Amino acid sequence: MDRSLLRALYEVVGEAGLISDFAGCLPYECDALAIISQRPELVVLPADTEEAARAMAILHAAHIPVVPRGAGTGLAGGATPRADAAVLSVARMKQVFEINAADRCARLGAGVVNAHITEACNHHRLFYAPDPSSQRACTIGGNVGTNAGGPHGLRYGSTTRHILGLVVVAPNGEIIDLSHPQPDPTDLDLVGLFTGSEGMFGVATEVTVSLLPQPAVTETLLAIFSSLDHACDTVSAIIAAHLEPAALEILDALTIRAVEDSVYAAGYPRAAQAVLLVEAEGSEFEVDTTMSAISSLLTEHRCIETRRARDESERTRLWAGRKGAFGAMGRIAPDLFVADVVVPRTRLREMVRRATDICQELGLRMANVFHAGDGNLHPNICFDRRDAEELGRVLQAGEQIMAACLAMGGSLSGEHGIGLEKQANMANQFEAADLSVMERVRGALDPERLLNPGKLLPNRSCLELGDGWLPPTTTGALR
Ligand SMILES: Cc1cc2nc3c(=O)[nH]c(=O)nc-3n(C[C@H](O)[C@H](O)[C@H](O)COP(=O)(O)OP(=O)(O)OC[C@H]3O[C@@H](n4cnc5c(N)ncnc54)[C@H](O)[C@@H]3O)c2cc1C
Repeated sequence: MDRSLLRALYEVVGEAGLISDFAGCLPYECDALAIISQRPELVVLPADTEEAARAMAILHAAHIPVVPRGAGTGLAGGATPRADAAVLSVARMKQVFEINAADRCARLGAGVVNAHITEACNHHRLFYAPDPSSQRACTIGGNVGTNAGGPHGLRYGSTTRHILGLVVVAPNGEIIDLSHPQPDPTDLDLVGLFTGSEGMFGVATEVTVSLLPQPAVTETLLAIFSSLDHACDTVSAIIAAHLEPAALEILDALTIRAVEDSVYAAGYPRAAQAVLLVEAEGSEFEVDTTMSAISSLLTEHRCIETRRARDESERTRLWAGRKGAFGAMGRIAPDLFVADVVVPRTRLREMVRRATDICQELGLRMANVFHAGDGNLHPNICFDRRDAEELGRVLQAGEQIMAACLAMGGSLSGEHGIGLEKQANMANQFEAADLSVMERVRGALDPERLLNPGKLLPNRSCLELGDGWLPPTTTGALR
């Protein structure tokens, strides 16, 4: 790495903000999709927007690609660097600038951990709604990058519905202040455009989020099934009946056993083939009405038993099992491939079966734990990446699951994003003309394609469009 470049960056971010040694850079070689890795030569950790802007300007002048990073919990390889890139992490930007209880919003550094937002506003009886299961580790900046969802996305929607403003550092170091909270922008919705852009449009350094009043009543119920099909059909029926619970999460038999053998043990019955975690929130009347309608549907769909959380500690325990499920699967195999696809909710049972068949045909062990209410499946394939042949079958299964999902009218990603993992499949979901428009937007914001190159958009397909809109200077970066 060029010494004068390191010196210039050192002057901006100091010793605490610069990593260039082999061992120090190693933890940044991948995100939670650990099968793809590339150790970077440089990691920059600015403490605030000003430092990020100056660091970005230096890297831009040296034509060094930049990979924005939060906590690296992404599951699609979005924060995985490539050999010639520097990683720019927002992990040190942990400032809670403002909690505005009256206007129900908070202004935060992009490195604030998701779960800490609700902790910071709890005493005002407010909360931040998007709750990815990784919320004890992932950052609000990363959530903006991926437009993260979570179990309660069913009621509250994903991150984009809760972001009121951003401060963004552009690829050339320019600071773009979009922080004035605008629930309903009168100009072009640049905040909406940026949310979910997977680090390709700039680095979010400050995020203004909307906070919601805590619901008056929350009720959580565990529904136990002797068949995964019945659990899926129940969810399809709840949605078709126009009921609006806050969360509907399914865990299958393999997941239940892994959870119950782990520190996340939640009291799920080991003999069950599936459990459905149902939560309703709102006024007492709303919760009672929703839960009683759901209870009838549970009976109709052969639920064998229900268990209601009697207090907050029982509720927390039921959720700890769900949120710790991915971690618990470490008991089954050393590696986990978390697929992430969405289908219309009328096709839940069919898609779960198809994914199960695909894995069985390829001789793979798969566990299901998923945001059933959103039609967002997570077939989790348990494997050992040291076995190259098995890894090949895992990737094959991932491809087949995506293809089956698209054939059912679904979508490539429910919440984890496209990153490196699904980039090549974008051309299977979108027309060349659609991809071309996306690439043009990218080019307007990052003409030299220096931000997170090689992610999200399938560059080769775009190039093959051959309509001459891609500047020739970028082709060297497109591998
Ligand atoms: C156990 C586990 C459970 C999970 N559960 C869920 C879930 O329920 N729902 C869900 O949606 N996801 C889930 N995820 C995936 C992951 O946690 C989310 O995608 C999360 O939003 C990533 O945040 P991060 O801070 O780790 O970002 P990273 O992984 O570091 O980055 C993610 C992407 O955002 C970009 N990015 C990061 N920071 C910024 C920034 N400041 N500005 C611009 N771009 C940026 C990166 O370049 C990358 O493309 C889970 C992951 C794990 C490991």
